[in-house]
Amino acid sequence: MGILIKNGTVVNAHQTLSADVYCDADKITAIGKDLEVPAGTQIIDADGKLVMPGGIDPHTHFELLFMGTVSRDDFFSGTAAGLAGGTTTTIDMCIPDPGQSLLEGVSVWKQRAEKAAADYSFHVAVSSWSTRVSEEMGEVVKTHGIPSFKHFMAYKGAYMVDDEAMLHSFARARELGAIVNVHCENGDAVAYLQADLLRRGVTGPEGHPLSRPIEVEAEATNRVISIAQITKTPLYIVHVSCKEALEAVSRARLSGQKVYAEALGAHLTIDDSVYKSADFDEAAGFVMSPPFRSKGHCQALWNGLQAGHIQVVASDHVTFNKEQKRMGRDNFAAIPNGTGGIEDRMSLVWDGGVRRGLLSPEEFVAVTSANAAKIYNMWPRKGLVAPGADADIVVWDPHASKTISAKTHNHATDFSIFEGRTVTGIPSATVARGRIAYLNGQLRAERGAGRLVKRYAFGVAYAANHA
Ligand SMILES: [Zn+2]
Repeated sequence: MGILIKNGTVVNAHQTLSADVYCDADKITAIGKDLEVPAGTQIIDADGKLVMPGGIDPHTHFELLFMGTVSRDDFFSGTAAGLAGGTTTTIDMCIPDPGQSLLEGVSVWKQRAEKAAADYSFHVAVSSWSTRVSEEMGEVVKTHGIPSFKHFMAYKGAYMVDDEAMLHSFARARELGAIVNVHCENGDAVAYLQADLLRRGVTGPEGHPLSRPIEVEAEATNRVISIAQITKTPLYIVHVSCKEALEAVSRARLSGQKVYAEALGAHLTIDDSVYKSADFDEAAGFVMSPPFRSKGHCQALWNGLQAGHIQVVASDHVTFNKEQKRMGRDNFAAIPNGTGGIEDRMSLVWDGGVRRGLLSPEEFVAVTSANAAKIYNMWPRKGLVAPGADADIVVWDPHASKTISAKTHNHATDFSIFEGRTVTGIPSATVARGRIAYLNGQLRAERGAGRLVKRYAFGVAYAANHA
């Protein structure tokens, strides 16, 4: 049974037009006026609303074993919350244990993702270097259709990679036509500052931002840009949080280097005053890395989005509840790092970006969907409302509002870092894989409805079409 989305305004990253959209099974098959559709077609009335490509959140961590505990949202609850917020595709960080085979990691993640309610892919983390890792990277790209690899410059003693491993991994990625993405914080500096603060008796959550100052992120960002320049590998920097790191990206782009930057909905809208709360639960809830920065940095990120120096807004969704955060009651360095936001991501960008006149609706589509599809090689199957594309669509009500709260959100955690914030611009319907997964406040996510999206290595599709 098909779906007809009627009377809306179709907004893509490149074009806006008044048209109806018809989805047959899991594809969009027609766009136009007065479309003839079979009897029994489900109708969504989009009068006064925008019909846009479903959101793509290319940075999530579902069911992640991290800092001695497992994050709350799994692939079902996480992707379901995404659907409620208009997001129809996620790319989750597949992080094999250090020393574990990358292929084992992929098979563990594939198993976990079987319950996903929406389509997904993975980035595979490389946290050490060996000939086996090199060979397995080839398998990951060619057999599994995953042409992106994650690297952590932070989390010493866990996932942190050194420069030598990054040089090898980046060079191998380039050879394979893959892109690398990197968490930029100097892990040695963080470990040094954590120990120093604890020795001086700073044990509460206020120690978290003090242990990860701007320099920690700026140094790592500059360093990894140089490493990627040496190996000539396309580079994507996850969660750029400060002006200095963004300036490093902008300089590299201006000098002709292929470097992309991602901002998080949370870094755009929350500042570091949250760590000053005397209530442990309150302050610990905001512990994530890089930490929230002063207001000037939030504005710098909006400026970066407006100027096109930041191409993607993600969530870095990883949720823990209050009880889990209390693992760091006497030591801020033991508070599980992570915050939720997949459901709120798109509304935060519309509310703070489009409503304030910083972004056009087309630019909104670019930063929440189309750019991620292009950078991660899912375009034009994802990130586009056009015949032949996947039937992943969000019907957006630009005038409706909601107040975000843990009482009503679909995240599997007992608090929200956006508690009490009212946002204007919310989905009224979400179609994923040709199914209505969300309609007028009612979530109809189906366990297991999502599929792994196979992605090509860069150059492969071009070569196939020009042989
Ligand atoms: Zn992350």
